[in-house]
Amino acid sequence: MSQTKRNGAVAAIIPAGGVGQRFGHEHPKQFLRLAGWPVLAHTLSRFEQSLEVEDIVVVAPAGFEESVQKEVVERFSFTKVRRVVTGGQTRQESVYNGFLFLEDLEFDLVLIHDGVRPLVPPGVIEAVIAQARLAGAAIAAVKTRDTLKKVEHGVIVSTVDRELVWQAQTPQVFDRHWLAEALAIAKKNGFSGTDEAGLLEAMGKSVFVVPGSADNIKITHPEDLALAESLISYGEEEEGMRIGMGYDVHQIAPGRDLVLGGKKLDFGGKGLLGHSDADVLTHALIDALFGAAGLPDIGSHYPDTDPAYSGAKSLDLLTDAMARVRAAGFELVNADITLLAQRPKIAPHAQAMRRALALAASCEAERLNIKATTTEGLGFTGREEGMAALSVVLLTKRRA
Ligand code: MG
Repeated sequence: MSQTKRNGAVAAIIPAGGVGQRFGHEHPKQFLRLAGWPVLAHTLSRFEQSLEVEDIVVVAPAGFEESVQKEVVERFSFTKVRRVVTGGQTRQESVYNGFLFLEDLEFDLVLIHDGVRPLVPPGVIEAVIAQARLAGAAIAAVKTRDTLKKVEHGVIVSTVDRELVWQAQTPQVFDRHWLAEALAIAKKNGFSGTDEAGLLEAMGKSVFVVPGSADNIKITHPEDLALAESLISYGEEEEGMRIGMGYDVHQIAPGRDLVLGGKKLDFGGKGLLGHSDADVLTHALIDALFGAAGLPDIGSHYPDTDPAYSGAKSLDLLTDAMARVRAAGFELVNADITLLAQRPKIAPHAQAMRRALALAASCEAERLNIKATTTEGLGFTGREEGMAALSVVLLTKRRA
């Protein structure tokens, strides 16, 4: 197996082909409502938001092209959808039709994803694409949870080794030339696979497996819709979100370093007074984190009467605080921090501070916003007797 790195662009085919006989509805299942949206709109939004996917072709069942275009693509303003094409009798034919349209576009990898898998996590999309870039062919799959039996005439013949069995999902991502060849060979030989990976396997290609997700369900039966509905509302319900606020003040004093957001700033030999490094901005963030997680305040975690915290680096306290917040079952969504100080100017240092805080908190810098305001010469901050900082934090309850 060659491991040449492929840097190519990704085009997606979304077959929304089936007419959903099992639902007993007149409408194809991809139009059924899930949390108020057509199922297909949920699916397309995952790829519209993906930074990896540039072009999308949707394959609609014959007679439904216009409603897909109007009720889904135009209504939700999906800008990456280049065309809605007509599907075939089988899924493979539908993918083939989608691929024919894509052929004129510039891309290196083709991603295929079922229109009725609306909850595919962004991380799974990225992981499958990354593996396909390395190896040419990769799909999402999950290990089976149940014990599998081989049965003939109602009697168990053998127990299948569960370690060897994976359930295929989508996305499935392939080198465009491999897929073109596989589709052409299958068409010529009248071979029909239940997924595209099967066609490449038949060609002798190594198709790599990337862990998918139990949430990445295929909506085939009415009860799947109910499950998807509950998975979506679980992710969005207010119960899953927590907000917290923090406020801190330190006095300005001579002969101290000024440390803000983990960075030492020049302040004419003056700094903030405190038991630790007195990083007021980081303290406000930590207190907001504890607040959102429903934990006691920063003073009870790191008492200023404890010599262990004398001269402590606040970034180390942030690392510890974030670990406690995560242990309590939360993950950071974002934080906004405002420093109240007459001087110095913070803007030139804000990016470096964000990076320092992000490193300490093990999160992306974009989740941490830092800004500053003067108080127009008013109050203790205006008179440069001290500095204050405010922070708000949003946490999400981590999924089990
Ligand atoms: Mg403090």
